[in-house]
Amino acid sequence: MLLATMAKVKDPLAEITSLCKRRGFVFQSSEIYGGLNSCWDCGPLGVALKRNIKDLWWNSMIAHGDIEGLDSSILMAPKVWEASGHIENFTDPLVDCKKCKARFRADKAPTDEAGKILCPECGSDQVTEARNFNLMFKTFMGPVENKGNEVFLRPETAQGIYVNFQNVASSMRRTVPFGICQIGKAFRNEITPGNFIFRTREFEQMEMQFFVHPEEDQKWMDHWMEKRYQWHLNMGINEKKLRKHPHGPKELAHYAKSAFDIEYEFPFGWSEIEGVHNRTDFDLNRHQEYSKKNLTYVDVKRNNERYIPYIIETSVGADRSMLSVLCDAYHEDSENERIVMRFSPKVAPVKAAILPLQKKGELGELSQNVYKDLQSHWACQYDDGGSIGKRYRRQDEIGTPFCLTLDFDSLEDKKVTVRHRDSMKQDRIDLSNVKDFLKDNL
Ligand code: ATP
Repeated sequence: MLLATMAKVKDPLAEITSLCKRRGFVFQSSEIYGGLNSCWDCGPLGVALKRNIKDLWWNSMIAHGDIEGLDSSILMAPKVWEASGHIENFTDPLVDCKKCKARFRADKAPTDEAGKILCPECGSDQVTEARNFNLMFKTFMGPVENKGNEVFLRPETAQGIYVNFQNVASSMRRTVPFGICQIGKAFRNEITPGNFIFRTREFEQMEMQFFVHPEEDQKWMDHWMEKRYQWHLNMGINEKKLRKHPHGPKELAHYAKSAFDIEYEFPFGWSEIEGVHNRTDFDLNRHQEYSKKNLTYVDVKRNNERYIPYIIETSVGADRSMLSVLCDAYHEDSENERIVMRFSPKVAPVKAAILPLQKKGELGELSQNVYKDLQSHWACQYDDGGSIGKRYRRQDEIGTPFCLTLDFDSLEDKKVTVRHRDSMKQDRIDLSNVKDFLKDNL
């Protein structure tokens, strides 16, 4: 992109969206048919980036030592959603503007001084009364489309964990406190999706439910709040753009005793990326009531005390987390006329690029061999097209931490130039040391 246009940039989110499309991170769903509103596809680099984020999350959970993994199904017995409160409570207040016909959420709309809701599109105060709108997607199981065959696409992955609490505890011989984690798709028929992949109707969640003795809830709440905050920092997120927001009494969900959001300062303002909730014994109690199965836990470590465990939940959107990583990495370096994605090497979708100064001949062959060798250990790209400056810019735009340039001297001295993405500094190192260099620096 030219500097002239960079100077005019007003909407960083539009720039990031455009870069994501141009460089294979995120495409609009069904684009050749005009797109499907609020649905997005991860392109080759997006899927690699999201996979890295999900792996970091999963590994951090498993490394905790007392957490088991799960992959429960998207469709569940409809009773689950009665027990969870989703049929009754999973609603947003829907309002229509009488003037411009915009449809929006009353609780996220601006208000005038007297507290009257204003249309976020045209500013009119001529809006309908709020009606509750259930966010769950419905479909039918089997060929007959009637009420008795109605099932829901899960709006969160958590319920799959609660209904498997006893299965996991007994099969894995786990005792409280312990946790269950899962990554999976969730669906919500959002009234006002938007801000690129921030709020979509289909998204991925990474959720962990930690089962504790009721007296230990606060201790574990504090523990998980800090752990989860640190996790985002470890991914390279700028500390100044990350904050903890405790819920006030009015913000608390019907199931929660206390809750924190972890918020990121997106180009459109501070918004939630993760929720940490003390859900008390609400969920297991309700599932006990609705399933009529005894879900009390007998604690052998506490003289066989019987109780319904409390649950501390950590819930983060994989796509929303990816958006925070994309926004945080995006950097316009006007001095060097480049856009650079400053991903932490941990999440960067491509770790190194191999750039030969000649396509063919001995140098091309040597470069291909280096590429093949490195590619079996790290995600690498091979690029022999265009000037070296252009190739560096291309790698900067996808956030590749290191470029390895092979020139004619490489044939003689068996050395390669390492170009660092952020500082643009160049070092020359022995080809035989490249692997150790990448191992140490990635
Ligand atoms: P919001 O207030 O933004 O609607 P929420 O409080 O309903 O979010 P939770 O139910 O706590 O969100 O979901 C946990 C996490 O799942 C959120 O922090 C977010 O990262 C992710 N998430 C929820 N809804 C969406 C969505 N529509 N699109 C993308 N991610 C979502």
